[in-house]
Amino acid sequence: MEDSRKWIFVCFDQLSWENQLLAGSTPESTHLIFVETESKPRRRPYHKQKLVLLLSAMRHFAEEARNRGFLVHYVHHPDGYKPPLEKFRNENRVPEIHCLEIQEDEVRMEFQNQEWMVFHDNNLFLSTRDEFFSVFQNSKTYLQETFYRYMRKKWNILMTPDSKPVGGKWNYDSENRSNWKSSDPYPPHPPWVKPDSITRKVMDLVEEKFPDTYGNLDHFGWPVTRKDALEWLEHFIKNNLVYFGKYEDAMSEEEPFLFHSLLSPLIHLGLLHPREVILRALEEYESPQGISIPLESVEGFVRQILGWREYMRHIFHIHKEDYKLANYFRHTHPLPSVYWGEKSGMKCMDSTIQTILDYGYSHHITRLMVLSNFANLLGVDPEALNEWFWFAYVDAYEWVVTPNVKGMGTYSDGGICSTKPYIASANYIKKMAPGFCKSCSYKATGLLEDNACPLNSLYWNFIGENENHYSSPGRRDFSWSTWKQFPEEKKDAIRKKAKSIRKQFLKKKSVREQK
Ligand code: FAD
Repeated sequence: MEDSRKWIFVCFDQLSWENQLLAGSTPESTHLIFVETESKPRRRPYHKQKLVLLLSAMRHFAEEARNRGFLVHYVHHPDGYKPPLEKFRNENRVPEIHCLEIQEDEVRMEFQNQEWMVFHDNNLFLSTRDEFFSVFQNSKTYLQETFYRYMRKKWNILMTPDSKPVGGKWNYDSENRSNWKSSDPYPPHPPWVKPDSITRKVMDLVEEKFPDTYGNLDHFGWPVTRKDALEWLEHFIKNNLVYFGKYEDAMSEEEPFLFHSLLSPLIHLGLLHPREVILRALEEYESPQGISIPLESVEGFVRQILGWREYMRHIFHIHKEDYKLANYFRHTHPLPSVYWGEKSGMKCMDSTIQTILDYGYSHHITRLMVLSNFANLLGVDPEALNEWFWFAYVDAYEWVVTPNVKGMGTYSDGGICSTKPYIASANYIKKMAPGFCKSCSYKATGLLEDNACPLNSLYWNFIGENENHYSSPGRRDFSWSTWKQFPEEKKDAIRKKAKSIRKQFLKKKSVREQK
């Protein structure tokens, strides 16, 4: 006899009671299936903290579902998600299994043409693809700002009653650019959570099964339950949001997290809904009792979640085939071993990599202006960089990591989601993170000297190597005109220096050359 109960597959990034399939189900009439598989960690050397976060959060959620009276099937399978679900289906003669639309392509592909798997709109996001297309229907390009303004109006966030942006401007990005010094307000540290028995068991499992994967577990303290995730959010709102805007672009060796929220891994798993995060920030901003939150902070924070997070997801799904081969600058070098923790002597690099090894996290500006910048200036294959970001960060999932690395981080998509390549010499690092340069073994102001910061010659060399890009109308910026004015001997000396730096850092063959 067929089982008349509804079968729901809860994917690892759908751990939310707002999941529309769970919200509308009664425990007695519903089977929940969770799958833990080794095929995922076998694909790439995911950071140990990412594996623990994901597995522990899933085990906690399944436990909570059991406590709520749901019939829970928690399956361990060596070979992916489809085989165990198919087995269940056959054994129980279940016509259909239901699931929210899966975001990770590698998982979704397993269910291609499997009609028994019924996908439903993923209500853990704030916009749909149709909506995205409707915003850009008469346009050839997708501008994030256009989409962001649409989202502000749609959700009526920071809008006046006559549909104008609060404060008169849509975007306060220009006020998000202070650097941070130790005499400035001190950023409160994240309220790391002490691992409970479920988490400790998962930590042992990861150490035993994947001892050589990226990073370490020494400092593991990510929230793995909804309760802890809500406390984490509250900590951010009460302590960090006030300075979020002002120091959003700053970097510091002493304080690697500064005023950032560290909420991305929790939102991606479903432990927090992006809507509730935004509403909580607005509530604090509007509260007459609380500390006064500046508009540039709340707007900056809202823009990241309501704007960038949603926008990047659509960009990925629309362009995912283009992104596979995207390599605008035709870079082919392998990623240097510095990204695995070998010391480079460059404080900005070494300090950021250490934070990632210890936490599986670093904030946006270090991802963009330190890690992507260095790889791009060295000429690293964007696919190699993308793979690295994907396994090194606890919040990395293909739909969000790929447009960020291949679009924003390296411009290898040729400008789908950013207007120009984000590249920088030591000048920028020194301005936004004076501490990095002060304690570095290289000199930020040098160019050709032995101890000159490698970023400087690499930067000018990049402009020279990509003259075709920079010389076209609309892209002739200050750097390009400066490069044009350098005497030929100086250009040659820069090229020579850049070549020797590449040799120093790039010892292996490129990923594509090896194939
Ligand atoms: P906060 O600075 O506190 O920002 C608040 C929230 O805004 C974040 O939690 C996140 O949900 C959202 N957000 C901000 N910027 C972006 C963005 N560009 N894209 C999507 N969401 C955004 N983000 C990921 O979630 N996963 C990744 O794998 C990832 N890889 C990146 C790689 C590169 C090269 C770059 C430049 C950016 C990447 N980002 C990625 C975007 C961004 O850096 C992170 O979302 C952010 O640093 C997460 O830390 P936080 O929660 O402290 O963010």
